[in-house]
Amino acid sequence: MCNWCVVKKSGIFALLLVVLTSCFKGKSVDLIIHNAQIHTMNDKAEVFEAMAIKDGKIVELGAERQILNKYTADEEIDAAGKDVYPGFTDAHGHMLSYAKQLLSADLVGSKSFDEVLVRLEKYQSKHNRKFILGRGWDQSLWGTTEFPTNEQLNKLFPTTPVCLIRIDGHALLANDALLKLANITPTTAVDGGIIHVKDGKCTGLLVDNAMNSVYSLIPEYPKKELIQAMLDVQHELFQYGITGVHEAGIENKDIAFFKELIDQHDFRLNTYAMLMPSKENIAFARKNGIYHYKNLSIRSFKVMGDGALGSRGALLKKPYSDDHAHFGVLTTPVAEMKRIATICELTGYQMNTHAIGDSTNNLLLSIYKGIFEVNKDHRWRIEHAQVIDPKDFSLFSQYGIFASVQPTHAVSDQRWAEARLGKERMKGAYAYKSLLQLCGMLAIGTDFPIELTDPFLTIHAAVQRKNSDNFPVSGFYSNESISLEECIKGMTIWAAFASFDEERLGTLEKGKEATFSVFVNKVSAGPEYQPNFAAYTFIKGKKVYSVE
Ligand SMILES: [Zn+2]
Repeated sequence: MCNWCVVKKSGIFALLLVVLTSCFKGKSVDLIIHNAQIHTMNDKAEVFEAMAIKDGKIVELGAERQILNKYTADEEIDAAGKDVYPGFTDAHGHMLSYAKQLLSADLVGSKSFDEVLVRLEKYQSKHNRKFILGRGWDQSLWGTTEFPTNEQLNKLFPTTPVCLIRIDGHALLANDALLKLANITPTTAVDGGIIHVKDGKCTGLLVDNAMNSVYSLIPEYPKKELIQAMLDVQHELFQYGITGVHEAGIENKDIAFFKELIDQHDFRLNTYAMLMPSKENIAFARKNGIYHYKNLSIRSFKVMGDGALGSRGALLKKPYSDDHAHFGVLTTPVAEMKRIATICELTGYQMNTHAIGDSTNNLLLSIYKGIFEVNKDHRWRIEHAQVIDPKDFSLFSQYGIFASVQPTHAVSDQRWAEARLGKERMKGAYAYKSLLQLCGMLAIGTDFPIELTDPFLTIHAAVQRKNSDNFPVSGFYSNESISLEECIKGMTIWAAFASFDEERLGTLEKGKEATFSVFVNKVSAGPEYQPNFAAYTFIKGKKVYSVE
């Protein structure tokens, strides 16, 4: 019996109206996006004109008339032919560090140490903090390879402790007031770190594990300020169409902080948080197992394998080409890494290890081998995978290991990478195409706040191998460039695989979450950097950002 017959028989006029409406205007949904170029990023690389959304999920994709004839919606968005992509994920970022950076003295881009001092004075006159924290200096921008020393800093701030963290987070400059507070002397011994000493006196420069005793003294910012800074970070990410972050390393107390942000402050970013392997966090994993709380997921540990290349902390098989006495440092002992691997195996957690140098990568590949023997779908990751001995490349595919890379690191490091490594080792450095060909997938991110959050800089760096100034003209080791589609997959569906989220995120397909962005400009990867922003960003069918 058709609807018409039901209505005739019942004779209820109101019902007739409802049925008429549904017959002519179609099924009701919450939202329709139409007149768009909807890049599904599915296996067939399908592009559709329109998409219907209900209860936060995609109901159907299709041609303009197909969707508009079939559905009626509370809200319709005419995208004016613009590109729509699944929400981008930054597969390796640090939201909490970025928020804290926003609250500390910003030293990023300082052109000299004098400029660092000027910025500090300005900051302190505004905030009058009892402990001054600055972040983001980089001596390679000052036309020198020499690390700074703290004499001028001591003159300016003789009693207030000052801690200035280098852009890569692997070195810091402390003034004497802070060194005294941390009980650091020229003879203090540190495993996996360096205390720089000159003429029998500490210069204030501390590298890798040597920073730990200073870190423990850094006071927390007032909670209210930190919450606002996190919401500012979220807003910036939404502006770029980023809807998820793999937060690379949080402490136990941060779990409650994220939950509070979600429950009380409308924090909606999909957050895949990696736990630092502290005693409390290991207890958390043992107790809770794989853990989901609204938009927060926890099922991985972040382990620090070595330092960074810029501060010569990355552990290399052979000495640094520009410092023959130096190999770099392993920041976590091998036995400890093996212990964490066992805990990951037992708890079903993923192990995500920071490994920059070819020696650390080789070591991790041999540790990860064990998990592949018991679980083929473990998805354990190497974060950065920056310098690989070409002999070791095939081990990534052999043991099913995910490489999590940051293309902007390649173009930021271009100034000194070859000096550190020499020409021969560069063949296996920032080698994203080689890794992709072997692994079939890459998780792609930025490591913000070390780099900027802008995913279009990532696209430019991955495809053109150039920085925001379009340098170098012919691309930095451009034989390792990947395609625009591959780069976007690294920020969408492959990033979803890297966090076990591919069933609900990463592509725009029927049944998946309606998490996507409409972009102001065409998403492209031409020879010039093309700035772009989201016009709208949606998470689970809800508008979280609009350019208006
Ligand atoms: Zn990182």
